[in-house]
This record gives sequence, C-alpha cells and structure tokens, in this order.
Amino acid sequence: MPQPTYHLGDVVVLRKAHPCGCDRWTVIRMGADVRIKCNRCGHRVMLSRNELNRAIRKVETAVGSDLH
Ligand SMILES: [Zn+2]
Repeated sequence: MPQPTYHLGDVVVLRKAHPCGCDRWTVIRMGADVRIKCNRCGHRVMLSRNELNRAIRKVETAVGSDLH
C-alpha cells in the first residue's frame, strides 16, 4: 500500500468526515505527529503519521507550492 505524501499547508481529504460535515483538513504541523485543522469549523486534532496515513482518502496539494 503506497504511503500518501503530504506537506505543510496541504489539504487532506479523510475517509471519515468530521461531525461538522467537513471531510477536508489542512496540515498545520508536521512532526512525529501531524496536526490537522478542519477546514470548516477550525477544530484541530493531532494524529500519528500511521493514523493519518490510514485515514487519508486523497491529498490536495496546497496552491502555489509546486516545489515538493
Ligand atoms: Zn469540523
């Protein structure tokens, strides 16, 4: 199974939508754990990379960041 790649500022679409109805999250911090923010309500959660890799359905690269 290929690992999804994502970077700071990218939007990730998760398999399971947040209770607010939004399934898009922005990556706001990268580290051993990754912090993401719900694009609709602004709720923030921290996930381990493994948890996030499993949860991601799709990655939408941030606008303007061509250099990856
Ligand atoms: Zn939300």
